[in-house]
Amino acid sequence: MPKYIFVTGGVLSSIGKGVITASIAKILSARQYRVTTIKIDPYFNVDAGTMNPYQHGEVFVTADGGETDLDLGHYERFLDVELSKDHNITSGKVYLKVITDERLGKYLGETVQLIPHVTDEIKREIRSVVERSNAEIGVVEIGGTVGDYEGLPFLEAIRQMRLEEGFDDTVFVHVALVPVIETTGEPKTKPLQHSVVELRRIGIQPDVIIARCRTWLDESTKTKIALFTNVPVKAVFTAPYVDTIYRIPLILEEEGLGDYLVRRLKLEFRRPDYTSWNEFISFLTNPADEVLIGLCGKYVKLRDSYLSIIEALNHAGAKLRLKPNLVWIDTEKVERGELDETILDQVDCVIVLPGFGTRGAEGKVRVIKWARERKMPFLGICFGMQLAVVEFARNVLGLRDANTTEINPNTPHPVVDLAPEQRSLDRFGGTMILGNKPVRIVEGTLAHKLYGTTMVYERHRHRYIVNERYIEMFERAGMIFSGYRADVPHRIVEIFELRDYPFFVGTQFHPEFRSRPLRPHPIFVGLLKAAYEYRKLYRRR
Ligand code: GLN
Repeated sequence: MPKYIFVTGGVLSSIGKGVITASIAKILSARQYRVTTIKIDPYFNVDAGTMNPYQHGEVFVTADGGETDLDLGHYERFLDVELSKDHNITSGKVYLKVITDERLGKYLGETVQLIPHVTDEIKREIRSVVERSNAEIGVVEIGGTVGDYEGLPFLEAIRQMRLEEGFDDTVFVHVALVPVIETTGEPKTKPLQHSVVELRRIGIQPDVIIARCRTWLDESTKTKIALFTNVPVKAVFTAPYVDTIYRIPLILEEEGLGDYLVRRLKLEFRRPDYTSWNEFISFLTNPADEVLIGLCGKYVKLRDSYLSIIEALNHAGAKLRLKPNLVWIDTEKVERGELDETILDQVDCVIVLPGFGTRGAEGKVRVIKWARERKMPFLGICFGMQLAVVEFARNVLGLRDANTTEINPNTPHPVVDLAPEQRSLDRFGGTMILGNKPVRIVEGTLAHKLYGTTMVYERHRHRYIVNERYIEMFERAGMIFSGYRADVPHRIVEIFELRDYPFFVGTQFHPEFRSRPLRPHPIFVGLLKAAYEYRKLYRRR
């Protein structure tokens, strides 16, 4: 029977509960325990696919095509696993299931209620995901903050699971912010205490407290937290702010969280192995040089919107001992003329980010033109790739007003167009081309050199594709299509590159979702290598 660790949050959201959950799982997997992770999101969207990145941050796409919370990205990267969409449970999903079952007559004769029907469904889903993952331990993160109305059914469900699974097989970990008062430098534990009071009010006594704090907590502060939260002082840990999130498991390990959890869950003692993880962190934090990367997109004010891309750059940077320094370029400003594309003069390469819709798109096209004309290393991801195709059509092929029909449905040259199967859809949620698809890599291309293989699986999230009709025209002008979907009879372009350019690449898929700390994605490694060459050539600093 699997064991469960439940992670709740207090005081504020966005305090790194996802990273801490991933770290707890890492600590156990470093001991060769089979662990899996689940993220619970109390909102009523069935999945994150229909949400604005400003509301939600990045939509993380799983191998099986789930549009999920970005914490699944942390889990996959920390554990080096592939999770399915079932590892993200939302209120929307749970209620939809209960209501569908009710209509099917599965509750015939009963009054369907929050307790027990909704809570039973929550427990059933948690258990079924952990069991199907063949895990010995499931680490379950409850999104949001204790005290939110929406989170209550989930807290009630895990309260019941403690009773049903027993004390030795369940641990409640509570992560809460301990703010430090500017003037006195004093850490204040009162908000944390209140969040634990709130938890206990609904019947959950935490077993472990992890204080999220700017600094380390001293013994007397820990003792105070222990006393007021009714937890032994050795079960109070600090997760201070550190240089990289990848250090958090090591910090919690040093403080003794691993041994504490092992004893508390009556697991057998095993020595954790962090050899390669340590090596990765030392590469990551001791770069030999830097590269400047221009990131062009619409949501540059909320960095979480592009989290996996930033992490993929960190992974590739660690491998090459280069620190990727990010320069954010708001393409809406470029479009409005508030920002000149000569800003790119400062950077060593440019990434045009994924996206949807008209706003900022022409700004992206201008940035792409600038980079292409200077042979600056370029990566276009998904929408960024499609717009690079548009730019090439307009400025190299001379097809004026060429466009993607996403922006101009009446363009005379629809070089990027809706995929045929997308034309007749009657709903938005979960209907894009999603998840892992096989991609055939064309031999003798840059893509082939980078991947070193002719068949790869990459994750997708799009509706539009390069219009097959233009492929030959593009190729005659120097655009090489180096990757195609391998599972469809017609040609869907997956990768393009430009002949005689060091690195000018577009990918229809999202390489960032498959990058791992110890296995950086070849496309990002290729980009950073080329950026570094470019930097040495034009070193202006
Ligand atoms: N809007 C584009 C499409 O749907 C690109 C999507 C993306 O960048 N993820 O095809």
